[in-house]
Amino acid sequence: MKVIIRKATYEGVKPVIEKILDAFPIEWEGKKVLVKPNILGPWKAEKGVTTHPSVVGAIVGYLKDRGAVVWVGDNPGILGYADNEKSARVSGIIGAARGCYINLGKDPVKAGIESKYLNGITISRQIPECDILISVPKFKTHALTMITGAVKNSYGFIIGAEKVLLHAKAAALLKFSEAVVDIYQLRPPDISVMDAIVCMDGKGPSGGGLIEAGKILASDNAVALDAVMASMMGVKPRDIPMLRIAGERGLGEIDVSKIEIDGPLEVIDGFRMPQTFAGGIIGSLINRFVFPLLRAKPAFDSRRCTKCRACLEVCPVKAISWDDGPVLDRRKCISCFCCMESCLFDAIGLGGFLYKLRDALTGKITGETG
Ligand code: SF4
Ligand code: SF4
Repeated sequence: MKVIIRKATYEGVKPVIEKILDAFPIEWEGKKVLVKPNILGPWKAEKGVTTHPSVVGAIVGYLKDRGAVVWVGDNPGILGYADNEKSARVSGIIGAARGCYINLGKDPVKAGIESKYLNGITISRQIPECDILISVPKFKTHALTMITGAVKNSYGFIIGAEKVLLHAKAAALLKFSEAVVDIYQLRPPDISVMDAIVCMDGKGPSGGGLIEAGKILASDNAVALDAVMASMMGVKPRDIPMLRIAGERGLGEIDVSKIEIDGPLEVIDGFRMPQTFAGGIIGSLINRFVFPLLRAKPAFDSRRCTKCRACLEVCPVKAISWDDGPVLDRRKCISCFCCMESCLFDAIGLGGFLYKLRDALTGKITGETG
């Protein structure tokens, strides 16, 4: 279990990726390799929401040169169910895939899963059929799960509306974190290569700030990779429920002192976690016992809202109604932030003065409140 950290730029990423992939003793020729970036939705690459196409392109080139059968694709986030190709085109992934893009949404298969929240799940056929899975996540925060990295990238195995249904079935942070790990366990990636050249902090996964860290991270263990990512964010991996659960299940090491790290592990200066994050003992106690009372809710910014209705359509519990713009029913809202994730116009923030009070109590600097 080793995590590699290398300096990189998007312009010069090709040789970096080549050296990183050379470090894994894999015979590629003739193998069906699925390259799975994080394509959250139809965001342009420069927005920093999706895995950058130059990282994907470098991986595809490496694999093609070695005779692999390459598939590139993702089931984008909440918005892109019916429009995987649009999201892949706008984000530049189709171009980077050099003829190897496949629409993962077109070939569903039912998969058995060990989960309290699911009896079975519909995933892309390519997930169980590939010989080698390369996860290519983005280094980002997430308002619900706190981080979006290699483990959470597996959520894109799921096709269509089941993603939204799972949010409704596993509505609280701990439950949803468990469900994400359940899905990750369906098919852990063989290698994860993380785009940490430009990272997103604060109100991720789509409305945060961009920070240039200039790094590519890679590992044969996605949990260990995410633990290193959390450390670079300046937080303890065990304060991220998804990682704590994965660690307790023996899926990977989250104690960074026990992970072999090849490269400089440096905390990113000024990196902000989402407003929903609370670390340390006080933070976790507050999250566990007070969180249900002060749970953050989305706040709509009418100046930015274009009235596209994406949030209205995506809400899994119909907590949004329409009155010349989105209106929230706070009692129905389960704080899943699917609406925020689906808003292409950064018109949804997090509301609640209690969060500011919590931040003051824990001394934690967090992201913008919108
Ligand atoms: S808040 Fe965002 S997603 Fe909702 S209608 Fe406005 S622009 Fe569209
Ligand atoms: S309003 Fe937004 S945060 Fe609340 S349940 Fe609906 S999609 Fe989730």
